[in-house]
Amino acid sequence: MDIVDRIIISEEEIQARVRELGEAISRDYAGKTITLLCVLKGGLMFLCDLAKHITQPVAYDFMSVSSYGDATETSGVVRIVKDLEESIEGKHVLIVEDIIDTGLTLSYLLNNLHSRNPASLRICTLLNKPENRRVEIPIDYVGFEVPNAFLVGYGLDFKQLYRNIPFVFVPKKELIENL
Ligand code: 5GP
Repeated sequence: MDIVDRIIISEEEIQARVRELGEAISRDYAGKTITLLCVLKGGLMFLCDLAKHITQPVAYDFMSVSSYGDATETSGVVRIVKDLEESIEGKHVLIVEDIIDTGLTLSYLLNNLHSRNPASLRICTLLNKPENRRVEIPIDYVGFEVPNAFLVGYGLDFKQLYRNIPFVFVPKKELIENL
């Protein structure tokens, strides 16, 4: 594909790891019902694939938090664009994220969600970019550690495009410069 500079994680690697994560989650939550809290829009692809490998009853709920806008650098500004539809009080909530970079988004979300008194609150992220972290985040499930580069695909966008690509890649410089 002419927008790809290099592939960081292939479709096969993602699918194999997502299956492992689903199996681990199924074991850890044995006997419990899970609310998968998807952080839109990046977490959507991951949520759908992950949920197929979870054997417990699961409910979905969705939240949209904005921290990036259309820029490739975090603004540090976090706001809830769309809130959950259901109360999470007394529920086992697993946050499903595409990537944790600075951690600012999740730090805000965690504070906000803890105050709603869930029975438990854990984090599952497909990608972790630890080099850029600004606040400590307790991550329970990680798919892959990734380098500090701007990544696209499998949920991650460039100007709202390319979230549907089934692998994670570094885009060509021309893409970022020309769009
Ligand atoms: P954080 O608040 O941890 O810095 O950023 C979290 C959000 O920033 C992610 O959910 C994602 O939407 C966006 N983000 C962080 N790193 C990348 C990246 O490499 N590529 C893309 N497309 N988005 C990213």
